[in-house]
Amino acid sequence: METYRCPLCNAMFRAEGAGSFRCPNCQQEVQVKKPFLLDVPWDVESKGEWLRAFWNTLTSSLRDPISFFNAVPRNQQFARPWIYAVLISIIVFICLAAYQVGFGALGMGTELVQSFKNALIPSSFVIGPLSIFFIVLFALIVMPIATTVGLFVQAALFHLGLLLVGGAKRDFISTFRTACYSIGPQIFQIIPIFGAMIAGIWVIVLNIIGLKVVHETSYGKSAFAVFLPLIVCCGVGILLLTTIAGGIFAAVVSK
Ligand SMILES: [Zn+2]
Repeated sequence: METYRCPLCNAMFRAEGAGSFRCPNCQQEVQVKKPFLLDVPWDVESKGEWLRAFWNTLTSSLRDPISFFNAVPRNQQFARPWIYAVLISIIVFICLAAYQVGFGALGMGTELVQSFKNALIPSSFVIGPLSIFFIVLFALIVMPIATTVGLFVQAALFHLGLLLVGGAKRDFISTFRTACYSIGPQIFQIIPIFGAMIAGIWVIVLNIIGLKVVHETSYGKSAFAVFLPLIVCCGVGILLLTTIAGGIFAAVVSK
């Protein structure tokens, strides 16, 4: 038995497989295609089927993000989403590191290796002799710390953005959980060349959808919150550049 949602009255009912059913609430004959996601599989896993829960969480966040974020429970639990995000970053790191070791061993083009290096978030960590020891060390210590700090800062900026436009209907933990569960597309980084770009854009899209759904706000407000850090960073960058340029100009002119 699976849980479905009536497309007419939004009532939940349980049925065996997709198809045509009479809704017990509105008594209409309705077609249901896919089961309604009641929980994030990773959040409710208790039978030791971690791999399956991880996979189902990843795929449903990619396939149907609106239903997925609707299912993210509104509670204070943040350890599981955090572990999920750390696992994704470790998998991506190990795959990219393995590529690099593989290409290095095969003596393949350095340009390709360089593009993988650039795709890595902490790219500087990979420069120098790579060994299994270093890969494991970074995967188990550096990546979890870098991911945690990154997610925390990201969630703080998102939450600040939401607060500025009055879109923060829920607390910071909710924003943090959304940021954690939006990290799934990072997995596409393992696709050569365009993977990093696909991953980056998809993560932004998931965050916008996630914040909108979790905070029950508008897409305009959630998009503002997600793009605010970019706008601020660019703004600060431009300000710095113009200040430096102005300083140089003034120095040259005054000579
Ligand atoms: Zn109904």
